[in-house]
Amino acid sequence: MSSKLFAGFEDVVEENVCLAPLTWYRMGGPARYLVRPQNTEQLQQIARRCLDSGTRMLVLGRGANLLVADEGVNAAVFKLDAPFWREHSHDGARLTAMAGADMQAVGRYCVRHGLAGLECMAGIPGTIGGCIRGNAGGRFGDIGNTVSRVTVMSADGEIFVRDKDDLVFSYRKSNIAATFILSAEFELEEDDPDELVRKFKEIWMFKKNSQPLNTKNAGCIFKNPEGASAGALIDQAGLKGTRIGEAEVSTKHANFIIAHPGCRAADVMALIEAIKEKVQKVHGVDLEQEVIVWR
Ligand SMILES: Cc1cc2nc3c(=O)[nH]c(=O)nc-3n(C[C@H](O)[C@H](O)[C@H](O)COP(=O)(O)OP(=O)(O)OC[C@H]3O[C@@H](n4cnc5c(N)ncnc54)[C@H](O)[C@@H]3O)c2cc1C
Repeated sequence: MSSKLFAGFEDVVEENVCLAPLTWYRMGGPARYLVRPQNTEQLQQIARRCLDSGTRMLVLGRGANLLVADEGVNAAVFKLDAPFWREHSHDGARLTAMAGADMQAVGRYCVRHGLAGLECMAGIPGTIGGCIRGNAGGRFGDIGNTVSRVTVMSADGEIFVRDKDDLVFSYRKSNIAATFILSAEFELEEDDPDELVRKFKEIWMFKKNSQPLNTKNAGCIFKNPEGASAGALIDQAGLKGTRIGEAEVSTKHANFIIAHPGCRAADVMALIEAIKEKVQKVHGVDLEQEVIVWR
């Protein structure tokens, strides 16, 4: 590595790594640094070096709600995917999951063990950290409903525990501002595993039938405005199937932009702007972006 910034951490820090394969959209440019800490101590030490050197820090989950600019990001991108960060276990009805645990793996673990509360997350790709950050969920419930405690770390490496009475989850939003979510605890309810597995599959099927799950996308592009559906507004504005470059407004669900082969982040960004403009013109509504853009 050319930089001395991460001396001693060469095993877990790479330079100029393309982020495209690490995102659901499979596009976007390189990160200045990709950091894969093996444990909390390493994360703390590397974060402190970033802070001291003024290096911007970003955290990447599964990249399921993310659009990375074609030019990439001049930042240290932390990916919590070492085995330590993917652990999850339960004690009675209390589940503990590390931030890098896969949401679907955790969901399946819960239903198989007869733990109710997270089956609403069936079919929502991501990590526990990413899902908590944006209170992922939908018509069957949100992750925040069952979160009882979150352990976070600020950019200077200080670790805090945030309990339920200090956490606020609202529509696609949490009040967690710390740079890193490290782990979370969930208060679940014991229930019949067979019934929960059935429910999990049913919700997954619902999502599969209503969303273009087998395409390259980043979930809903816009948040639903109060009392309205962003997808319906986009559809009524006649935008289904609209294409810029290789980015297209899904014909299955108008709030999804799908990326065809060769699509660039710039195509998606241009289509996002075109949708915002048309919806404002037709409905007088300013759509708020749900997808996060890294530039
Ligand atoms: C096919 C498809 C369907 C989807 N359906 C839904 C749905 O029904 N409901 C819904 O809510 N979402 C949905 N999404 C969006 C996505 O699944 C969620 O937003 C999910 O929570 C993203 O998690 P992630 O780990 O991939 O986060 P990323 O996309 O990697 O990151 C999202 C944000 O979280 C931050 N972040 C990630 N991990 C951490 C961490 N450990 N600490 C601090 N910050 C962190 C990132 O910095 C970024 O700001 C869908 C996406 C796809 C592709």
